[in-house]
Formats: sequence, C-alpha cells, structure tokens
Amino acid sequence: MRANLPKTQVQANCLIAGQWVMGESGQTPIHSPYNGSLIGQSSEPSSAQIETALVAAASAQKEWARLPIKERSKILFNFRNILIRDLDEISHLKSCESGKTFEEGKAGLLKGLEVLEFAISIQNLDLNGKLEVSRGVTCEYRREPLGVVLNITPFNFPAMVPMWTIPITIALGNAYVWKPSDKTPLTSVRIANALIDAGLPPGVLTVLPGGSKTVETLIDHPIIQAIGFVGSTKVARIVYERGTRLGKRVLALGGAKNHIILLPDANPELSGIGISDSFTGCAGQRCMAASVLLAVGNVDAHIERIKARAHSLKLGDDMGAIITKAQVEFLRSSIDRAEREGAKVILDGRKTPAPAEMQSGNWIGPTILDHVKPGSDAHTTELFGPVLSIIRCKDLSEALAIQATSAYGNACSVFTSSGALADRVTREAKAGMVGVNVGVPVPREPFSFGGVRASKFGHGDITGVHSLDFWSDVKKITTKWEVQSDSNWMS
Ligand code: NAD
Repeated sequence: MRANLPKTQVQANCLIAGQWVMGESGQTPIHSPYNGSLIGQSSEPSSAQIETALVAAASAQKEWARLPIKERSKILFNFRNILIRDLDEISHLKSCESGKTFEEGKAGLLKGLEVLEFAISIQNLDLNGKLEVSRGVTCEYRREPLGVVLNITPFNFPAMVPMWTIPITIALGNAYVWKPSDKTPLTSVRIANALIDAGLPPGVLTVLPGGSKTVETLIDHPIIQAIGFVGSTKVARIVYERGTRLGKRVLALGGAKNHIILLPDANPELSGIGISDSFTGCAGQRCMAASVLLAVGNVDAHIERIKARAHSLKLGDDMGAIITKAQVEFLRSSIDRAEREGAKVILDGRKTPAPAEMQSGNWIGPTILDHVKPGSDAHTTELFGPVLSIIRCKDLSEALAIQATSAYGNACSVFTSSGALADRVTREAKAGMVGVNVGVPVPREPFSFGGVRASKFGHGDITGVHSLDFWSDVKKITTKWEVQSDSNWMS
C-alpha cells in the first residue's frame, strides 16, 4: 500500500536545549521519491548553534544521569505508548520520505519498538555487581554513562536505525545527539516530539540535521564522547578514522553485499518466498537485502519461483520507490554493464512502467541477472536496489569460497533441508549474521545486530546486550572500612 503524502509540508529544524529552532546554515528541500513532490524542508545548524546545543546537552546529561534508571525507564515507557498511538501517522511520513511502502514503513518502526522494549528492560539486568574479595574488602563494578553521544543515521530506515540507539543510550544515562540523514530528516521531528511529550528533559535529545560539515564539527567537538554511525562503507570509514584519531570510541556500520546460498534440496516454497522478498523488500535498499545468489547445482525450478514472485510485484503497491533519480540511473547503468559483461537478464526491471500518477517518481522494477561472473562488478559492488545477481556454482565448497571473497560481511543465508549442510554454512560463512532458510537474518533483541569486515568498523555491537559495553563505562570500586590484623597487598 502507498503511504499518504503529508497534507502540509514538514519543517525539520534543529532541536537545541529542548526548543525547535531554524538552522542558520541554509535549508534543503525534501522531495518524495514516490512522485517528486515537495513534502518538507530541513535546516542545517551554524557552528555557533552546534556549540550552544552541545553545551546544553552536556549540562542536561549530568542531571539525567543522576536519575535512577527506573525513573529514566518510565519516560521511555511513555515514549513507547506514544509511538504505538501514532504508529500509522509516523509510518506514513517515514514511508513517503524514504520511498517505502506503508507496510514496510510500519514494520521498521515496529522493529525499533523491539529495541525500545529491550532498553526499558535494562533496569532489570544485572548492571552492577559486588563481591567480598578479601576479609573486609569488597570489589564492586558500576555501569556509568559516557556523557554526550553522537549518532549519524542513513536514509533507508529513518526511524528504525535511530531507534537502535536512542532508547539504549538514554536508558543508560547518556544525552543523545542525532544527525539524521540529509535525505530523510522529516521523521526525526515526529520521533523527537514523541520523546518530548513522554517527559524527556530538554537537552537530553538534540537533533541537528545537515551534511558532512555538521558531522565533522560534531565529531571534532570535545563534548562528544562516543560516535555511532550507520551508512555506506565509504562514509563509515571516514567517520571511524576521524573519530578514532581523536581517541574517541566509534562504532561505524557500513554497506553490504549479502550472499544467499541455494542448495538443490531447499524447500521450493520457503526459498521462493524468502529469496524473492529479501532482494525486493524496501526495493533492495536495506543492508540485509539478498544481493548475490550462489546457485548450487540444478536449482532452476527454485529460480523460476523466485522470479515469478518478484515479477508479480506491483510497483507502488507491493514495492516502493528508489531514494533519488541519480540512484535509479546508477542501477540502470549497473544492469547495462552486467549485461555487456555476459550476464543474462532474466527479469528486467528497466522495462517495468512507473505506477500511474507517479511517473515523475524514482522507479525501477525487480531485476535478476543470471550467470554473473565471480569478481565482476555485479558480484562485488553494493548496488542498493532490487537487483539479484546469480552466480552458478558446482558445489557448496565453491559457493563458500566465493562468499569468502566478499569485502563485506553483513549477512549470509543458506536455503537447504540438510541440518549438516546448514551447520557448515553457519560455521564457515564470513558474515556477522547468518540465516538458515531465512532471507533477512536480522537478530531480535536481546541479540545484537552487526556485521564484520567492511560492514563494520570498530569493536562491539550497536544494539542488544553486547551494546551495553559500548554505550557505557564500567567503573571498578575497591572498598575497606576496618583495619585487619593480617596484612596483605590491599592493606
Ligand atoms: P551515507 O553513507 O550516504 O549517509 C549516512 C549518513 O552520513 C547520513 O546521515 C549522511 O547525511 C551522512 N554523510 C553522508 N556523506 C557524508 C560525509 N562525507 N561525511 C560525513 N557524513 C556524511 O548512506 P545512505 O545512502 O544514507 O544509506 C545507505 C547505506 O547505508 C548503504 O550502504 C547501506 O548498506 C548502509 N546501511 C548499513 C546498515 C548496517 O547496519 N550496516 C544499515 C542501514 C544502511
């Protein structure tokens, strides 16, 4: 289903010290990928505004951290109720600024709510511990917030990716500075307003839209203690290097080129649905999308099912739009190039007509390239669109060897009926997240999300239980109150 375009334009300004103010460094118009219509604008902060925002955030964080986690969690609980109340409205806005279908927009927000529910439960985890280590001597550890943390988010999940980090970081007592995508900043207004209405004190959340200049100023600022980034590998590397050069803690999640291994004994229905939906969902604009199909042996009947399902999708209703016209051109030229290099186009999205009344939008249909050569552009480059490259392999060993050559390592899945073969893939695949008969193997909280290789720079995970160590410090306290008759090294 298509999302409703907003009736009035949405203004995404800067949230500084709890107040929405117009950024002083210029405005950027935001057009819907559906039909190119102007749906809002964002304004970028000046250096002076960034300074004011960070000083206010640092001051607010001190008070916020003094509240018991139980009190902080109550505000997050209110936030959850507001998001559930406004679920459809927010989903419409985020879908029409990012090009998703309404159902995809809603699914992303629901995924974000799962992280929020995990964050609310952190108060019940064992965050502190104490032990008598010698007679009359105790050692204790306490989890403490870092201070003001920065998060830079991509266009393709305007609510879900920020919701990976907002709830966990602020539950732990940090203040959060959000630099939303310059392409999809409008949703940030709704998320921030929900937090304000939930009772979040001014300054605990700061929103600063903008581009690379804003990001650089924020990374370099001494108030920023830690940086989370989600986006392309090119920018992830820039952010990681800039932040770590200053001695800051950085976790930068990058792009992907996910391989799916299809074995001849796979359940035809499970693989047909799972693989087709994986490469066409969100029009292929997600870091967990299937991108390369390693077809082992004779799986032609399976491929026919994948193709038939993808072919049946109606643009606009079942599959959404592409973020920009430039990206549509990039996808078209990548398909042209693969064809010139010998791939066979067995499903051609270049010919799929744009939906009626949306001719001026950014559209391309699902595309399947068969007989792609290992190491060619269609195999190695992240295209970020609804394009599946099939590489034919003689056996599982060859498929695993090809997967292992990938520069990226976000996800890898296998479709098979054999537990032993599935087990081999889960052990040998070079990826942070592996699926068995699952096209999009996104772990659910409390399991953490994250890849390896060029899909993630930095140590640790951005969500789930493993993120607690990234978003907080563990302080160790050793205590003695009385003089003991026997002396030891702790005297
Ligand atoms: P992007 O790298 O272009 O932008 C990400 C963020 O960085 C945005 O906020 C953008 O405004 C900012 N930015 C852009 N150029 C910058 C620069 N030179 N210096 C500093 N900041 C800059 O990514 P995108 O196009 O918004 O998102 C798509 C990419 O994100 C894909 O590669 C996709 O695989 C990846 N992604 C990865 C994950 C993951 O979990 N690994 C999740 C979602 C998206």
